[in-house]
Amino acid sequence: MGQNFDTKSVHLALKDTNNVDSKVTPIYQTSAFKFTDLEDLENFYKGKKDYLYSRVGNPNTDELGSAVAQLEEAPKGVATSSGLSAILVGVLAVAKAGDHVIASTDIYGGTYQLLANELVDFGIEVSFVNFEKPSEVENNIKENTKLIYSESITNPLLRIEDLKEIVKIAKRNNLYTMIDNTFATPYLCQPYLDGIDLVVHSATKYLGGHSDVTAGVLVGREELIDKAKSKVVNIGTNLSPFDAWLACRGIKTLSVRMERQSKNAQDLADSLRKNEGVAKVYYPADVSTKGNGAIVSIDITGFCDIEKFFQSLSWVKIVPTLAGVETSVSYPLSTSHRALPKESQIELGITEGLVRISVGIEDAKDIIQVFEQAIAESRK
Ligand SMILES: *Cc1c(COP(=O)(O)O)cnc(C)c1O
Repeated sequence: MGQNFDTKSVHLALKDTNNVDSKVTPIYQTSAFKFTDLEDLENFYKGKKDYLYSRVGNPNTDELGSAVAQLEEAPKGVATSSGLSAILVGVLAVAKAGDHVIASTDIYGGTYQLLANELVDFGIEVSFVNFEKPSEVENNIKENTKLIYSESITNPLLRIEDLKEIVKIAKRNNLYTMIDNTFATPYLCQPYLDGIDLVVHSATKYLGGHSDVTAGVLVGREELIDKAKSKVVNIGTNLSPFDAWLACRGIKTLSVRMERQSKNAQDLADSLRKNEGVAKVYYPADVSTKGNGAIVSIDITGFCDIEKFFQSLSWVKIVPTLAGVETSVSYPLSTSHRALPKESQIELGITEGLVRISVGIEDAKDIIQVFEQAIAESRK
């Protein structure tokens, strides 16, 4: 006896995809995986089958975690729903209520909010310290300190962290280390190879590269990633299969994008340094032999009208993010660093004339021209 229509419409004989040799990984857009019988189900718990339920694990999210681990030369990685959730599970993998974390003052605004406003409610204490003076880091270590947290290239003033020094301090004091490598990417910098325990990325930025996905990845020492992975499962900060697939697709062009974007950023920084309408250009040197990253920050306080500058940017979009293939600008004072206390903003140099430029893959001459014109049109 055949099935009736209402049953048939739900149980359509769909194509068996096991023998389809697709060139790229398909999107496993499924919330769960099927089992033939109870023994087959038991196989999952015995480790003979990889997948049960997508919050617990999915081929696309696993692919992203392991892709970034490979690029960072780290043994293991886990993908999460956002950069911030990757930071959260990374911190929770090493610190619990009663523990203390030392973080750099000049970190991403969202990370500051997570550490300063949320983790306190979990009973995790955080001190913000100026990492330009390593002795300050050491002076703030307490009996319950567990973790030192910073960024390889800081945002938006692009300070380069001395990772080897951080590792030395951590080793001397038996602490874990975690570095946000979002701005540098593993193309320019591989903190795990310097001895950092956990490396975190907002894959929303350069790994994805096209401003069409929100995702995070945490890589590092195997036992710590296993702990972080169980936090992802239990807290529910897993990434969707489609977003993992998009991030993996983005990673395939990471090298060519970073090569072009770093080169364009260098050309733009060199040209803006000669511009009399710019008080200060922030662009690092010596990040890597392959380039110095694709973010250039400029301070035009006193020389240009900031409102007029943002109105004169022609094809450059104003967006509160970075790292896409298109050149864009953001205004740290009113977006990414809005949450920082005023004293920290002043101390860090986040002024009313500070503009963060995320340099894209366009023709460098056009990028330079558009900023020179905006400066000329907004000169005081
Ligand atoms: C964007 C960003 C984050 C947060 O990532 P989300 O994907 O937005 O959660 C963390 N660190 C840095 C350096 C960033 O630029």
